[in-house]
Amino acid sequence: MAGFDMHVHSTASDGANDPASLVMMAKEQGLLGMALTDHDTVDGISEAAAKAKKIDFPLIAGIEFSSEQNERDVHILGYWFDPEKISANKQVKDMQDARYQRCYEIVARLGRLGFDLDADQIVASAGANGSLGRPHIAMAMVDAGYCSNIKEAFNKWLGRGMPGYVPRRKLDPFEAIEIILSADGIPVLAHPGITGMPDGFISVLARAGLGGIEVYHPDHNFAAVRKYLQIAHRLRLPATGGSDFHIQGVRSLGCRITTVKQLSLLAQKREELLGKHVPDDNIPHGNI
Ligand SMILES: [Zn+2]
Ligand SMILES: [Zn+2]
Repeated sequence: MAGFDMHVHSTASDGANDPASLVMMAKEQGLLGMALTDHDTVDGISEAAAKAKKIDFPLIAGIEFSSEQNERDVHILGYWFDPEKISANKQVKDMQDARYQRCYEIVARLGRLGFDLDADQIVASAGANGSLGRPHIAMAMVDAGYCSNIKEAFNKWLGRGMPGYVPRRKLDPFEAIEIILSADGIPVLAHPGITGMPDGFISVLARAGLGGIEVYHPDHNFAAVRKYLQIAHRLRLPATGGSDFHIQGVRSLGCRITTVKQLSLLAQKREELLGKHVPDDNIPHGNI
């Protein structure tokens, strides 16, 4: 079934393809549309939107906040916001600055461990506006011959608990939801099945203004899809789907989609959320 791929990463964060080529690929693949959802940045959106306009392909402005609750990843996707409001947000700006500081800290730490890496070059490799992250440092380690691949760089040096790991201050999911709503977008919980958060936490997020659940994700097995579909139904939240595409060969673009019907429910939910200030009147309060 054709539909919208609502979860796609570009070179503006940690994807391998630039925003314009992703739009081309999505069209060629017969998708009805796509949302560009880079990690913590909207920098790829204008390029994607320009291409989409040129080839007459529906593009939805999106983002994926890599937020965290009690050291557990709780990623929040956002759609249909005003990108300028997101990039002007102080918390978003602070977070982007923190990415740079962290890169220099990690490189300094790796330097003490005997690795000779150039932080300025790594920053440059992420692009002037790119969402700099550990994958860029891992790539530099591979290029310098210190590791044979990115996975090894993470497993031995950069992963949580490894000698080169420096924690990064992240948003919590409630902050992410608030940032998206205040930019007139709708927040959607990304791949809850990956992080295995307690189910009750989803109803807490719903009370805080969550507008949907990404039920269809390549890392969700059948049981997970069924479970999150039930939760979405119970909380009256639309279900969405997307490929979480980063690079060819891992997850394929369009392998999970949001149908037109689901998309229109999501658009309705957005109206509902933005139409009122305290978005918890008609959402059942589950057990926490
Ligand atoms: Zn994610
Ligand atoms: Zn993602």
